[in-house]
Amino acid sequence: MMQKYMETKASYPDCILFYRLGDFYEMFFEDAITASRELEITLTGKSCGLEERAPMCGIPYHAVDGYLNKLVAKGYKVAICEQVEDPKLAKGLVKREVTRIVTPGTNLAPQALDETKNNYLMCIVYIADRYGLSIADITTGDYFVTELPDSAKLMDEIYKFMPSEIICNESFYMSGMDLEDLRSRLGITIYSLDAWYFDDAICRKKLLEHFHVSSFVGLGLEDYDCGIISAGALLQYLLETQKNSLSQLTHITPYTTAKYMMLDSSTRRNLELCETLREKQKRGSLLWVLDKTKTAMGARMLRKYLEQPLIEKEEILKRLDAVEELKDLAISREEIREYLTPVYDLERLITRITYGSANPRDLTAFKTSLEMLPSLHYILEEMESSLLCGIREDLDTLEDLCTLIKDSIIDDPPLAMKEGGIIRDGYHEEVDKLRSAKSDGKDWLARLEEEEREKTGIKNLKIKYNKVFGYYLEVTNSYKDMVPDYYTRKQTLANAERYITPELKELEDTILGAEDKLYALEYELYSTVRDTIAGEVERIQRTAKAVAALDVFASLALVAERNNYVRPKINEKGIIDIKDGRHPVVEKMIPNDMFISNDTYLDDKKQRISIITGPNMAGKSTYMRQAALIVLMAQLGSFVPASSANIGLVDRIFTRVGASDDLASGQSTFMVEMTEVANILRNATSKSLLILDEIGRGTSTFDGLSIAWAVVEYISDTKLLGAKTLFATHYHELTELEGKIENVNNYCIAVKEKGDDIVFLRKIVKGGADKSYGIQVAKLAGVPDIVIDRAKEIVEELSDEDITNRVSEIAVKEHDARKKPKAKKYDEVDIAQMSLFDTVKDGDVLEELKNIDVGNLTPIDALNTIYRLQNKL
Ligand code: ADP
Repeated sequence: MMQKYMETKASYPDCILFYRLGDFYEMFFEDAITASRELEITLTGKSCGLEERAPMCGIPYHAVDGYLNKLVAKGYKVAICEQVEDPKLAKGLVKREVTRIVTPGTNLAPQALDETKNNYLMCIVYIADRYGLSIADITTGDYFVTELPDSAKLMDEIYKFMPSEIICNESFYMSGMDLEDLRSRLGITIYSLDAWYFDDAICRKKLLEHFHVSSFVGLGLEDYDCGIISAGALLQYLLETQKNSLSQLTHITPYTTAKYMMLDSSTRRNLELCETLREKQKRGSLLWVLDKTKTAMGARMLRKYLEQPLIEKEEILKRLDAVEELKDLAISREEIREYLTPVYDLERLITRITYGSANPRDLTAFKTSLEMLPSLHYILEEMESSLLCGIREDLDTLEDLCTLIKDSIIDDPPLAMKEGGIIRDGYHEEVDKLRSAKSDGKDWLARLEEEEREKTGIKNLKIKYNKVFGYYLEVTNSYKDMVPDYYTRKQTLANAERYITPELKELEDTILGAEDKLYALEYELYSTVRDTIAGEVERIQRTAKAVAALDVFASLALVAERNNYVRPKINEKGIIDIKDGRHPVVEKMIPNDMFISNDTYLDDKKQRISIITGPNMAGKSTYMRQAALIVLMAQLGSFVPASSANIGLVDRIFTRVGASDDLASGQSTFMVEMTEVANILRNATSKSLLILDEIGRGTSTFDGLSIAWAVVEYISDTKLLGAKTLFATHYHELTELEGKIENVNNYCIAVKEKGDDIVFLRKIVKGGADKSYGIQVAKLAGVPDIVIDRAKEIVEELSDEDITNRVSEIAVKEHDARKKPKAKKYDEVDIAQMSLFDTVKDGDVLEELKNIDVGNLTPIDALNTIYRLQNKL
C-alpha cells in the first residue's frame, strides 16, 4: 500500500495528497506534518517498513469538505485519491486514483464560496512584451480572454477580477513584477507552470477541441496570439485538476479593456466600490447601496457592472432604458422581484449537475427555480427597451426540464443519492414494483399464509423468518400428515417441521432483494435525469445570464425609485454638470435626510480644474467622491443621486485620496502618495476625471505646496494633460492660480463663524476659503482649552513669520516666470519651522497635536489622545 502511495505522491509533488483508506483520508510524511499543523489534527505514525515510523494523520471521509476547504483557503493544492473499486469486490489492493485536484481557484464546494462573488482562476503569459490574460470561473462557466500591452494595465485587470489563484508562465514569474506584494495584498496563490502548458500548438489544439470548432475565427480569437496561449494553458490546467470534460465552459469571451472605464486599484479602493477602505466590508460601499438583487447570479453580475463601467454611449443608454422602464413599471418590477426570490444559483447548480455532484435536493431547488421562468417570461412580454427584450429572448422557460424533474423526483427528496427515496411513484414501473415489494411484503406474506391454510386445511400453519433459512412455513407435528407435495422440508424440530415452497422463495427474493435493487435503480434513474439536464448546459447558462441581468436592472430600478435618483443624460462633449448631487453612500449613513446636496460643473474649456478649499471636516472629500461616484454610476447604467445630471463620458477615473498608510507594502506615506501621483500623471488622458485630495500633505509645507502647485499647472496644461480635476487642498495659496491659469476655478465649502466656533454649512460656493479654521476644528474635536488657547497664541506669533504666504509669493513669482521654485529657500523655511518649535513649552504635546489627522480620528481615538496629551502637560 505504501509503495502505491509513494508512486501516486510522486505524480503530485506540489499537492497535499488525501489518500482514501476505508473511512478515512490519510496523509503521510511532509503532507501529514503540514496538514496536522494547519488543520490542528493529531499527528500519529505508521510503521511502513522504514526504520522510523512515517508521520501520518487522517480525517474521516464524511468530514472531508471542511478540512479540504480550510487547506485550500490557505493556498494549498489538495489531490484527492479515491478508492475506485468496491473494497468488497477487490482482489488484493483496492484500486485507487486521484479523481480531482482542488486549488483556490478551482474549489467547487458551496461552503467555501461567497455566492455574491465569482471565484476566478487567472492565467497570465508574458510573451514578447505583451501579456496574454485569461480568466475562468469554473463554478459558473465564465471564461474570458484578453491581451494587454503593459504591466500597469495588467495590474488593473488583476484588481478588477481579484482572482483567488494565478497561474503563469516562467517569463512572467521572472519578469520582475513584485509577486510577493501581490500575494500578501490579495492573499492569493501565484505560481508558474511547466513550459509545456504554454506550447502554442498544444494550446490551439486543446481550445479547438474543447469548443468543437475548426478555427479561431468562430471564437473571435483570431487576433489573440498570446491570449490563445493563456486560454489554452488555463484550459489544460483545468482539465488536469478537474479530470472531467469541463462541459460548463461553453463559451470563451474575448474582451478588450478599451471597452470599459479603467479604474486602478487605489481608485477602486478609495471610491469604496465593493467594500469599505478600512473595515473591508460591503456595508458602507457603493455596492451596498445599489445591490438589492434577489439572486446570487444577479449579485455577481451587478458587482461586475460596478467593477467595469462602460464607456460607449449607446451601451450605457441601453442600460439606462432598461432601468427606466422597470422604474416606471413599478408593479411589474415588484412582481419580477417576487418571482426571482425563490430562484437559486442556476449557474453554480448547473456546474454541479455537469460534474455529477449535484444531490437530489439540488435538483428540486433547480426545479423550483425553473418554475418561476414562465411567469418572468410573461411579464417581460410587456417590456419594450432593447435589453429587456433581449433578456426575454434569451430567457428559455426550460419547461421540458422542469417537467422532467417534476415527474421523476419527489417533492422533498433526501440529500443522499444512493439510499433511495428519490424517484416519484408512477414514474417508473419497476421502481413502483420494488417499492411496493418492500413495503407490501408483510401483507403479501400474511396473504400467502392465509391462502396456504385454506389450501391445506392446516389451521395453525405459520410463515416465519430466520437468518439461516429466510422465510419458511412451520407446521406442528399434529398436522404433519396434511402437508402437500409441493412443500420442501428444510428442517425438523422436536414438535414441528419447517418447509419452503417456490412461491415463498420468490416472495422472499422480491422482498429482500427489493431494497438493494430499488436503491440501485433509483440512483440510475436519478443519474439519467441529472445527465439529461447536464446536456442542456448551454440553454441553462444563457437563461441564467438573462435572469441575472433582469435581477440587476430590477435592482437598479428599485434603488433609483427608493433613493430618489434621476436618469443621467450622457454627452460626449466633456461636460459634467450635476445639479444637487448627493453622495450615494454618505446620504444613507447620516440620519433624517440631513445630507446637503451640491452642484458640480466641469468642462473641457474654462472649468477644467476646481480647486476646493475649506477646513478639515467641511466635506471636501465627500464632495469630490460624490462627483466621481455619480459619473461612475451613470456609466455603469444606473440612475444617480441628483436633481439632474449630464455626464460627459470619462475614460478613467483616478483618485488620490487622503494620506492612507500603506504599511503592507513597507512604503512611507509620502512615497505611496507620490507613486500614486506619478501613476496618475502618466496614465491620465484629457478624457479622464481626477480626484486629488490633499496632494503634498505628507512632506514639509514648502515641498508640499510646491508639488501641489506644479501638479495643478501640469494637469491644466492641455498640451500636457488637460484632464478634468477636482483638487482639494489646505494650501490656500493655490487659490491664487485662479485667474492665472485660464481653466482653474476656486470653490470652497462654506463654514459660518459663530464667535470662537464654526458651523459646517456643507455647501460648496465659488471662491477660496480665507482661513483654515484648524484651531476651531480641533476645538470641535474636544482638544482641551489649554491647548487650544496656546495654539492661538502660537498662530499669532506665527503670523509674523507667515511661512506659507512667503512660499506662495515665491511660487507665484516662479510660476509667472515659468521656473521652478529655488531649492535654496527650502532651508530657510525649515529653519523657521524649527525655531517655532524651540520656543514652544510642552513642545511634545503640540508636536503630537499637530500630527493628529483629525478627519480620520474615531471618537474613541480622540478621547484616548486627549487623555494622553493631558497626562503629558
Ligand atoms: P473633509 O474632506 O473636508 O475633511 P469630509 O468630506 O471627510 O471632510 O466630511 C466630513 C464629514 O462631514 C463626513 O463624514 C460627513 O459625515 C459629513 N458631510 C460631508 N459632506 C456632507 C454633506 N454634503 N451633507 C451632510 N454631511 C456631510
